[in-house]
Amino acid sequence: MEFEHVEGDLAKILITQEELHAKLDELARRIEADYEGKDLLLVGVLRGAVMVMADLARALDRHIEMDWMAVSSYGSGTVSSGVVRILKDLDSDLDGRNVLIVEDIIDSGLTLSWLRANLASRGAASVEICTMLRKPDALKVAVDVKYCGFDIPNEFVIGYGLDYAERYRNLRGIGVLAPHVYE
Ligand code: IMP
Ligand code: MG
Repeated sequence: MEFEHVEGDLAKILITQEELHAKLDELARRIEADYEGKDLLLVGVLRGAVMVMADLARALDRHIEMDWMAVSSYGSGTVSSGVVRILKDLDSDLDGRNVLIVEDIIDSGLTLSWLRANLASRGAASVEICTMLRKPDALKVAVDVKYCGFDIPNEFVIGYGLDYAERYRNLRGIGVLAPHVYE
């Protein structure tokens, strides 16, 4: 879906599809260099990371494996509590693996810091994080992110996997949701 199909729902266009793809190419070159000669398991966090995972995986000119997790954070409404429940676990054994967690966005960082510790405790050789977006103003816990696409303002964004009430995930780019949609 293009921006023009949701024009009235957007406060502004933030990142275009072309900018997303250019950034992923850049990150892919860094990842190839950093993991040269090593195996690499990409772990995507459902459902938001589906688009980043699909494009990052194809941007990498090397063999990788992909696996998926689904987690939900306990807590009321939009407030993340940091307590995480696994809804779908990995199918892979992490013993000795180099794991790269692929995420759409880091907001408070609570989900990711829990997830990294959880995966590291399973005997992985390394666990790093790649996220397309990060909201620095919102960070509640320090998360060491090795690969970050864009730092964005503390606004609610949609598109490229990110949803509001499960909609807009299939938007090609990323935009700021207009307040009238959720108010
Ligand atoms: P946190 O880093 O633990 O706060 O959780 C981040 C999760 O909250 C992401 O994986 C998204 O599912 C969701 N999220 C945070 N900010 C946004 C946003 O601006 N738009 C859509 N989803 C968001
Ligand atoms: Mg998510």
